[in-house]
Amino acid sequence: MTFRNDPAPIVAPAAGVASPSPAPGQAPVTAAAPRVARSTAEYRVLDAAHHLHPFSDMGTLNRTGSRVITRAEGVYLWDSEGHKIIDGMAGLWCVNVGHARKELAEAAYRQMLELPFYNTFFKTTHPPVIELSALLAEVTPPGFNHFFYCNSGSEGNDTVLRIVYQYWLVKGQPSKKYVISRTNGYHGSTIAGASLGGMGYMHEQMPSKVEHIVHIDQPYWYGNGGDLSPEAFSLNCARQLEAKILELGAENVAAFIGEPFQGAGGVIFPASTYWPEIERICRKYDILLCADEVIGGFGRTGEWFSHEYFGFQPDLLTMAKGLTSGYVPMGAVGLQDHVAAAIIENGEFNHGLTYSGHPVAAAVAVANLRLLREGGIVERVKTDIGPYFQKTLRAALADSPLVGDIAGTGLVAGIQLAQYKGDAQGLGRQRFANGGEVGTICRDFCFENDLVMRATGDRMLLSPPFVITHEEVDELVGKARRAIDLTAQRIGT
Ligand SMILES: *Cc1c(COP(=O)(O)O)cnc(C)c1O
Repeated sequence: MTFRNDPAPIVAPAAGVASPSPAPGQAPVTAAAPRVARSTAEYRVLDAAHHLHPFSDMGTLNRTGSRVITRAEGVYLWDSEGHKIIDGMAGLWCVNVGHARKELAEAAYRQMLELPFYNTFFKTTHPPVIELSALLAEVTPPGFNHFFYCNSGSEGNDTVLRIVYQYWLVKGQPSKKYVISRTNGYHGSTIAGASLGGMGYMHEQMPSKVEHIVHIDQPYWYGNGGDLSPEAFSLNCARQLEAKILELGAENVAAFIGEPFQGAGGVIFPASTYWPEIERICRKYDILLCADEVIGGFGRTGEWFSHEYFGFQPDLLTMAKGLTSGYVPMGAVGLQDHVAAAIIENGEFNHGLTYSGHPVAAAVAVANLRLLREGGIVERVKTDIGPYFQKTLRAALADSPLVGDIAGTGLVAGIQLAQYKGDAQGLGRQRFANGGEVGTICRDFCFENDLVMRATGDRMLLSPPFVITHEEVDELVGKARRAIDLTAQRIGT
């Protein structure tokens, strides 16, 4: 496709780089990679001199140097040294349609020429945000008909808090202020996002947390379930919500928020008993139920939203990452009709971001959602590649002495590394005394073997792009097994 005002090409094809097989539903692309203008050493010197990385120990990182990723296509990344790396994390849980999809690039390019930016504050709107809102009303479950936009998942959860407080104000119950969340949940890194999240190490670096946020335990059976069955343990965890509500007084509790499955916390899947009980308790005490779908949304489990997989109905939905497949930043909050009604006929809602509903982000989101739906990509996660990935991964790791448990469905998995995996029911299972260390060893072996697999403590996480082929799943799983075997050898299990 060519455009008006096509600039002279500023990119040159990288020499000697083989194109991977085309993603489903896509014609083969001719790889065009940005010219590598500097040597790896030069990049590292400049990066160390001027760039502060998120969630990093900069002293240590600057001494070893970062890996410089220069291009990507489908499920592969290439670094400045020419290594071809399989991306088992879809970027950071977001590049669901795979890297370098022309449909998304063209949508952004066209929109930038047509209307690169206009705000939606002052009695104005624009076609991309209108199209996106109408499309979101179609792909989200019934009752979600209104959407508020922001630039990230963190801002989405800030927005959720603002909506929740406005809701109870309008309902004449301003005492409902407490929001209940969970330990080891992840809701972002703004002050409100980190306060909602249950990561103690993030709280330590803040002088104070947002008030009126309290936590109950996460449903992490492998670590905390003892001799209980996963179902009984998850039910106990859910009932902590009821105990916390009674302790605070239902008249003081506004909402519960949780990721349907915990992502950054280690891909932790609660047993089937968990969410129905959480939902029952929220309804009983008139508490809003908020699902943070930043990772689970847009097909990761094979359903459009992961709360559909778990079978419950939230009042608010936080979305980001997969909304644009990460091609440009965008977040959104979906409101059930009764929640939207509290915002709509009740005066000014005093919240907004300059880039709320940014036209380029909205245009990319529309292109992304169309591709996911019309390209049958979400459907394929459910009926074909998701089951294949789960089956292949579980078969490959079944006899590894280091793997205690595998959680997940669709194209997401959490692999529990364990000192002793226990009996067939997992009884007697034992975690490593220093679990983070074993995860880091494994992660380093992945790195050396051109695989991106993330470590969270003693859990290894996989969340590949949805367009991964069967052969690429075989490669991914083979490399994961090898990294885990090398880890077992290193630690002498
Ligand atoms: C990544 C993530 C966030 C934060 O999103 P950002 O875009 O990084 O601000 C919030 N919630 C969940 C569940 C996430 O995985």
